[in-house]
Amino acid sequence: MFNFILFGPPGSGKGTQSVKIAEKYNLVHISTGDIFRKNIREKTALGLKVQSIIEKGELVPDSLLIEILEDALQQHPKAKGFVFDGFPRTIQQANDLDTLLARKNQTVSLVLALEVGDKEILTRLLKRAETEGRKDDTKEVIENRIQVYNNQTQPLIDFYKTKKKFQSLHGIGGIEEIFTGVCKFIDQQI
Ligand code: ADP
Repeated sequence: MFNFILFGPPGSGKGTQSVKIAEKYNLVHISTGDIFRKNIREKTALGLKVQSIIEKGELVPDSLLIEILEDALQQHPKAKGFVFDGFPRTIQQANDLDTLLARKNQTVSLVLALEVGDKEILTRLLKRAETEGRKDDTKEVIENRIQVYNNQTQPLIDFYKTKKKFQSLHGIGGIEEIFTGVCKFIDQQI
């Protein structure tokens, strides 16, 4: 199995690239943000629980993430591998992911970060706000999401560097250009 984590700040293009990677390498794309948004739209119990947290740009509690991941992995018993997009976002989540994968005798294969600076992110997300209307794309909430990323998610870089699984790539450029770069890293590992 190839278990790939696409890592990076909000607005770095993880969603766009993850879809393309999953398609090209026949992997299952798991976006925790998409799962939450679907639950919010459908007003499920989970959706109601997480809605206000997400609208503030805070992180959903780790315990809920593990339930979601367990469920997602179970739904795809025959997967050749996964692209994790927006997960893990805390050290606890990274440890939980290792535990879940270990049950299948699996590990994280590669963590690839898309590097984009804070200013560019703010510009991109404000632009996205005009077209997509996501409730967490207001200036105030975006700034909070960037701060949450820097405080709670960035420490994962050292976590995966220690495990020698971490690589990074400049995340500014055209979608196809970045995709070519991402594929080069994957092709070296797969
Ligand atoms: P982005 O990467 O643009 O911030 P996502 O779609 O990945 O957007 O996530 C949207 C929101 O969903 C996050 O701001 C957070 O509130 C919640 N969320 C998604 N994934 C996680 C996670 N792994 N842990 C905690 N909260 C999460």
